[in-house]
Amino acid sequence: MPDAPLILIIEDEKPILRFLTASLSGQSYRVATAESGAQALAMIEAHLPDLIILDLGLPDMDGVEIIDHVRQWSQLPIIVLTARDREKDKIDALDRGADDYLTKPFAVGELAARLRVALRHRARAIAGDDQTAGVFESGDLRVDLQERRVFVGTEEAHLTPIEYRLLTTMIAHAGKMLTHRFLLREVWGPGYSEEVHQLRVHMANLRQKIEAEPARPRHLLTEQGVGYRFATNE
Ligand code: CA
Repeated sequence: MPDAPLILIIEDEKPILRFLTASLSGQSYRVATAESGAQALAMIEAHLPDLIILDLGLPDMDGVEIIDHVRQWSQLPIIVLTARDREKDKIDALDRGADDYLTKPFAVGELAARLRVALRHRARAIAGDDQTAGVFESGDLRVDLQERRVFVGTEEAHLTPIEYRLLTTMIAHAGKMLTHRFLLREVWGPGYSEEVHQLRVHMANLRQKIEAEPARPRHLLTEQGVGYRFATNE
């Protein structure tokens, strides 16, 4: 299928590489592979993949160097793979521009879902459909972005300006993993990147207003120790 999205898998562990290649080839993706950072950089320039799956622990360089390199010229989606004990690495990777992460070992269904979200997010960005006009709807939540009004079912939710900004920032990146640092920077500004407590308080208040069960949120999901994700109906 010449039109199928091309996924570049960058991974030096052969069993994982084989597993990913077999799984994705069976799901109508085209697959290219690289087993080192140097090989990956050459492949990226030669083949212009639609999405990159990147292991952060490569033999010849740190995976985040590849993120830095790609982000100089492209916003193509990057999903990083990390080991369970490398929490800080994945946050660093997300802050540098990775779109999402999976912790090894992961289920292939989970990977497939993340791929779909990342590819769709990218397609929307290219089409210029940034959802800053019009109405956003997801389940019982409706946000009128022109009128700046939020409804849960038929009831209007009255948000503070910060809560509204937090919600619309999450909506603009629906499905994507957003770090504390990213949200603080986007909502409060560059001087606030360490104020995680403040973010938690506002997130809790926002959940009280828009979630049917704030303790079990359906829209505003917590990714423990990393940040938040706006759930899409996948
Ligand atoms: Ca590795």
